[in-house]
Amino acid sequence: MTDAVTAYRTCPLCEATCGLELTLEDGRVTRIRGDAEDVFSHGFVCPKGAALKPLHEDPDRVRMPLLRTASGFEEVSWDDALGEIERRLQPVLERHGCDAVGAYLGNPNAHNLDALLYGRVLLKAIGTKNIFSATTVDQMPKHVSAGLMFGAPLSIPVPDVDRTDYLLMLGANPLASNGSLLTAPDMRGRLRGIRARGGRVVVVDPRRSRTAEEADEHHFIRPGTDALLLFAAVHVLFEEGLADPGPLAGHCEGVEEVQALAAAFAPEAVTDACGIPAGEIRRIARDLAAAERAAVYGRIGTCTQEFGTLASWLVDVLNVLTGNLDRPGGAMFPKGAAGAANTRGTPGRGKGFRTGRWHTRVRGLPEALGEFPVACMAEEIDTEGEGQIRALFTFAGNPAVSTPNAGRLRRALESLELMVSVDIYVNETTRHADVILPAPSPLHRSHYDLALYQLAARNVANYSPAILGPDPEVPAEWHTLLRLTGVVTGQGVGADVDALDDFVMAGLMQRDIQDPASPVAGRDAGELMAELASRRGPERMLDWMLRTGPYGDHFGSNPDGLTLERLKAEPHGIDLGPLEPRIPEVLRTSSGKIELAPEPIVTDVTRLEAARSAHRNGGMVLIGRRQLRSNNSWMHNVPNLVRGKDRCTAHVHPDDAERLGLEDGGRANVTSERGTIEVPVEVTDGIMPGVVSIPHGWGHDDPEARLTVAAAHAGANSNVLADELAIDVPSGNAVLNGIPVELAPVRAAEPVPAA
Ligand code: SF4
Repeated sequence: MTDAVTAYRTCPLCEATCGLELTLEDGRVTRIRGDAEDVFSHGFVCPKGAALKPLHEDPDRVRMPLLRTASGFEEVSWDDALGEIERRLQPVLERHGCDAVGAYLGNPNAHNLDALLYGRVLLKAIGTKNIFSATTVDQMPKHVSAGLMFGAPLSIPVPDVDRTDYLLMLGANPLASNGSLLTAPDMRGRLRGIRARGGRVVVVDPRRSRTAEEADEHHFIRPGTDALLLFAAVHVLFEEGLADPGPLAGHCEGVEEVQALAAAFAPEAVTDACGIPAGEIRRIARDLAAAERAAVYGRIGTCTQEFGTLASWLVDVLNVLTGNLDRPGGAMFPKGAAGAANTRGTPGRGKGFRTGRWHTRVRGLPEALGEFPVACMAEEIDTEGEGQIRALFTFAGNPAVSTPNAGRLRRALESLELMVSVDIYVNETTRHADVILPAPSPLHRSHYDLALYQLAARNVANYSPAILGPDPEVPAEWHTLLRLTGVVTGQGVGADVDALDDFVMAGLMQRDIQDPASPVAGRDAGELMAELASRRGPERMLDWMLRTGPYGDHFGSNPDGLTLERLKAEPHGIDLGPLEPRIPEVLRTSSGKIELAPEPIVTDVTRLEAARSAHRNGGMVLIGRRQLRSNNSWMHNVPNLVRGKDRCTAHVHPDDAERLGLEDGGRANVTSERGTIEVPVEVTDGIMPGVVSIPHGWGHDDPEARLTVAAAHAGANSNVLADELAIDVPSGNAVLNGIPVELAPVRAAEPVPAA
């Protein structure tokens, strides 16, 4: 046995970006724990972090390309797998055009450097408009509201949790999610820090979540009414003369319009719909205005609902009107070291953001961020006609579990002429594929959180090399994506990957060299490429982004600046300091102002007004539930993470349980307009009366999937109940919270009388 070796890497499993310390013996990982010296996470780690080892060793993980045959999947060579894709894809493209090929990207792509940098190369090569992702079952409303207000959809202000005195959170459970659209490891510690310095944490949620239990105040709210509550708080600020954007006043457009819109939403007018007393709403608004440094933060519960964009917008309207946007302790804009769209182009002004540059074929819904609502994916596959999706690529995704009316999607997948999946598992989605191409395990991949550092509560940068080096069996994912690009563009299975990589790199360089605001504007591309000659693939692109980024060495003009080499020398990461004010520099609106009342949002207020007065029948509504040991629809094949009592249960309030004849530990059928699932019941006063909560991501009961552990803890798929026709109109995000349902007890079968 060789001596133990210690290595460090960032955990790629969620947005918290925790530093991990790994012990290796004889080339095998023997221990994983938090990296105490990590500049951001300081040793914090959640139970999922240690799962990298069982994930890597999982016998169910796909290690060779799989080809569907009459007798099931068979392992084939990479050339044979790609040859089969070429043979079947080209006729689809020739007969029906590029929009006949769809693509779905799952959440893990956001944590994957190869996929972030090379996935878009492949998508561009396909040329399809039929792109879908997990964004529209999660966070698209926030991108749309931020894009319309600040000009760039990734310019999302995050609460400055380490300096704030008052944090109002809606639909967020960071103690389970570990932060979402907010990269901040150890949220429990950070929330406790707020209280320890005399601050206040307030949670609004239909469920008394783990986060709510840590808070000073928790208010139950009826699902889907966050926009009403937030509008009422805005109303109070204006009515009581508390609205004051402070130094931002000169940077804002539309304050009067917001005031006029809020006039209809007095606390007394929304209290019945929200379920929060008007006096409490007024007090929350006053507390928020009075706090020295405060931030409002809304997350998935405010997005996956009927008025997701309005709620997301109002969160930042409140941050502006209380003078808390862009100041320490308020809601601030992070500045990522690489790839931050809001650090490019002319500071303070841009083209702005819009949706609807093209529309879906069947329902005519607008694109946002270049993709369509995933709630439309099934109908775009199963509705015949010109433009119908006939071939589909999925990348690290499981839409058969994670999208609304999942039953329809599963049937639709069966009708495809070709389905190709790049994935580590044969899951409920990829089991429909004709070809599955494996991706390497995280221990065989390098890592840099290109996307998430743009949402971090502190400016940091951390690069991790592949702990176990390249996988001898599974090529690097960027390599696979470029080979697929070769196939799609007619260069065939033997396409020159190096030449393709050079081409992609040259495009990236030219974009920056031709940007007058770039630190390398006008420089000689050949000279700069020569400085990167020792690298290829994602490392070369990342080095470029770091060196031309806001902290970079700018290829010589800022000699002490960041390079990949410098980052590699710091295995615990580099702390680039606390968040700093960035307005007006961060803005990319065409007006150069914060647009407080953008037209698409103002238009949607009418829909909200109508819903406020709509008749409510008092029936039950369904919401989701985030769980610490789950990661949406995956990670359920890791034994340590599914051990213990059944977690896929329905939380029901005692009053509802009594009224409906449900028993704690019994089972219930939960029925919506779309389907029925059967789940165990947990009776708890931690849920609002009239609401039932079932976690998403379960339902591993497909016998064709190869998830041995998950199948033994299958649970039920709550997305069978979601209606694909119910969306947040401006963003197209699916409505997964506030679904009308009925609950009925499942009675034990009567014994059959003896003959
Ligand atoms: S909190 Fe997220 S990043 Fe940190 S160890 Fe857990 S899964 Fe990994």
